[in-house]
Amino acid sequence: MAKQDYYELLGVSRTASPSEIKKAYRKMAIKYHPDKNPGDKSAEDKFKAAAEAYEVLSDADKRGRYDQFGHQAFEGAGGFGSGGMNVEDIFSQFGDIFGNAFGGGFSGFGGQRQRVFKGSNLRIRVKLSLEEVANGVEKKVKVRRKKLADDVTYKKCSACNGTGQVTRVTNTILGRMQTASTCNICGGSGQIIDYRPSNSDTNGFLSTEETVSIKIPAGVEDGMQLKVAGKGNDAPANGVSGDLIVAITVAPHPHLQREGDNLHYEMYISIPEAILGTSAEIKTVTGRVRLKIEAGVQSGKILRLRGKGIPNIDGYNKGDLLVHINVWTPKTLNKEQKTFFEKMKKNDHFKPKPETTDKSFFDKVKDMFS
Ligand SMILES: [Zn+2]
Repeated sequence: MAKQDYYELLGVSRTASPSEIKKAYRKMAIKYHPDKNPGDKSAEDKFKAAAEAYEVLSDADKRGRYDQFGHQAFEGAGGFGSGGMNVEDIFSQFGDIFGNAFGGGFSGFGGQRQRVFKGSNLRIRVKLSLEEVANGVEKKVKVRRKKLADDVTYKKCSACNGTGQVTRVTNTILGRMQTASTCNICGGSGQIIDYRPSNSDTNGFLSTEETVSIKIPAGVEDGMQLKVAGKGNDAPANGVSGDLIVAITVAPHPHLQREGDNLHYEMYISIPEAILGTSAEIKTVTGRVRLKIEAGVQSGKILRLRGKGIPNIDGYNKGDLLVHINVWTPKTLNKEQKTFFEKMKKNDHFKPKPETTDKSFFDKVKDMFS
């Protein structure tokens, strides 16, 4: 396939000024940027082709050679063979001209393509009480992390000349092939250690203990993971520190059961309390709650206290506290009590007469499916 003319490709005349060329390239690069066209191979090809054209036309010397000899001027080693230029190279060479088009210039480019080295993540487990879950909590934890020693200095890797990539040109039956691979001397960073203090390891890291403060929002659940950015191990050279991954464990509560954002509480009342009504105080996760129990309450009734549960992690809603009423029946009675209940047993008023209109019955069903 014949290669498209660089001027045509950028849509500029052969007499275009450097700023016209830059402007034209910028427009194309933004249009065909891989972040804007995920998975679109033809957009990526256009993006690469535009970068290639710009690389030549933005350089007075290369432009002159191109004007004289055309594409032939750049054939062979150092030119653009198949796969000679990848998206990463384009970002590192021309990133600055995109300006703010992609949210803050160079650092705003898509993560995997940009050759940024990230330190490894660290993981810790934090155990919380249900009270801490309900109110949110700030935990201070000691973390042992690899920190890059302050006085480590780097020099350009001579194996790859600081590019992090080594290119090899080979002659095959299909012609010259240029292949790029990660430099195994510097691991792709383009830099190697020039000086490191004697107490650091071979990569210039010191093992340090650091106290990290973790803000845990209300509403977290057992098994959730939070990320504290930058509190993992440091990366070498100009890399980004790894993250601290915090795995949440929630200890079981002695009286309260959690179900999503709702809490369940089993309340036991005596037969006289059920008959006469009573009031009680429940110690819940956000303080004490006073509760009035009407005379004639049925065992199994569920009282719903709105907003007395766990706040939703999104910060907008709160769950409810569901109080399950259990009437406690004594196993033994003294003579006087026995006589009294024998008498009540014969009394028609004590015969169970459940009504379908009994609100507690519907409450129960509703709560079961809510
Ligand atoms: Zn290297």
